[in-house]
Amino acid sequence: MPGTRTLAIIKPDAVGSGKAGKIIALLESNGFKVRACRMLRLAQPQAGAFYEVHKERPFFAPLTAFMTSGACMPLLLEKDNAVLALRDAIGATDPKEARDGTVRKLYAESKERNAIHASDSDDNAEREIRFFFSDVDLLSAMDS
Ligand code: ATP
Ligand code: MG
Repeated sequence: MPGTRTLAIIKPDAVGSGKAGKIIALLESNGFKVRACRMLRLAQPQAGAFYEVHKERPFFAPLTAFMTSGACMPLLLEKDNAVLALRDAIGATDPKEARDGTVRKLYAESKERNAIHASDSDDNAEREIRFFFSDVDLLSAMDS
């Protein structure tokens, strides 16, 4: 059965240009519940570890430079079939290819500065949730 949790990160372009509130509102209107959130600035080793799967790709260095360029906002989101539902709500990696009404179509500047990250599988969602949120954060979020 597909999981009910996934991780989003509102990326530094969107936080810096004041779009975080609009993006959270759009996600909530798509039926996601925000169960935990933070604002932080990733250091280079953390960004490298988070995107380790891409470390051999030509875009790895610019990607980690961008992700460390300012504050970002990891969000723990809950909805039925959460991973697929969030991928659908954020749209294609390149906003030029993203469906109307998606986060990236509305708020991304480019393929490199594309406003939001979403986990791409249930296993990665659990890994990425643990990366940003401790058990204490999760327990208190579940009480709310
Ligand atoms: P994310 O993992 O950030 O949610 P994604 O799953 O849509 O995005 P990935 O293939 O995981 O895309 O790539 C991670 C990020 O690396 C993308 O969001 C994008 O900013 C960047 N990226 C991916 N492919 C390219 C590319 N060909 N050229 C430049 N940047 C790229
Ligand atoms: Mg990805």
